[in-house]
Amino acid sequence: EKLDEGLEKTRSSFFGKIDRMVRGKDEVDDEVLDELEEVLVTSDVGVKTTLDIIENVEARVQSDQYVSTKELNRIIRDEIATLMLDDSKERPADFDADLPNKPHVIMVVGVNGVGKTTTIGKMAHRYKQAGKDVVLGAADTFRAAAIEQLDVWAERAGVPIIKQKHGADPAAVAFDSVEAARSRGSDVVIVDTAGRLHTKGGLMDELSKIKRVMGRKVTGAPHEVLLVLDASTGQNAIRQAEEFTESAGVTGLVLTKLDGTAKGGVVIGVSHQFQVPVKYIGVGEGIDDLQVFDRKGFVEGMFK
Ligand code: GDP
Repeated sequence: EKLDEGLEKTRSSFFGKIDRMVRGKDEVDDEVLDELEEVLVTSDVGVKTTLDIIENVEARVQSDQYVSTKELNRIIRDEIATLMLDDSKERPADFDADLPNKPHVIMVVGVNGVGKTTTIGKMAHRYKQAGKDVVLGAADTFRAAAIEQLDVWAERAGVPIIKQKHGADPAAVAFDSVEAARSRGSDVVIVDTAGRLHTKGGLMDELSKIKRVMGRKVTGAPHEVLLVLDASTGQNAIRQAEEFTESAGVTGLVLTKLDGTAKGGVVIGVSHQFQVPVKYIGVGEGIDDLQVFDRKGFVEGMFK
């Protein structure tokens, strides 16, 4: 399984560190807890989430009087599973689940290079495979290459794309995409957006404008705002999540490049710290390399 292989580096780095840490010790004491804090932070779990985990493990050690280092793995796993956002009340992320709106409007945001276009292509493919009619919108008009790339993915997935010339008004493209989806009777429209971070204020204003325009066309649109983060960038992903969740009304996260990174711990940090569910994970560059995120499976995969 791809995720399993993908998590191998995270797993071995994480457990390698914990194993070295408890070597020659029987009991979880303050020293072990200090070291555990260090291991979690350097495993890209994030400072806030690490402190919460440590606090819970500490409480556990105190109430149980004696906790052996052998039990530590299981305790950490339990704590992580509890901390990660419970997404059972969310709309099911499975591609064949019923969509609550028609068209269901999904806006995809994130900085350049994280895998936004690739993720949109993979999602289009999966929705189509599930029998849904999909339209893509190329509202990242800032880079000519972005439109071309999305075009390639539209072709691969076999779905129509609404686009305008490089430099066109992104909100106009978003409007046209939603309009096209409505008149075609499509089920889903997935809109790509620009991701240049150097003009942060400008970008957030642009995203708000795109949202407003789509909302005028279809009630409640966009119904989902997915933030794509590159897991292999570790703490950068956490910083980006901070900026986008503050100003872009993010409803779900996509963590890409979980294949072959040792920074998989970031998945735990982002979902806990921002209280936004992880919906999908990217485990490769191919069209089938997108998985619906399964919290339980992920935690188990990390602790195998
Ligand atoms: P965008 O600028 O955010 O639209 O990023 P792209 O979709 O163009 O992706 C940037 C690079 O990351 C490309 O080379 C993709 O093939 C690669 N990529 C995207 N998702 C994944 C993933 O899950 N795993 C791996 N290994 N590469 C990915």
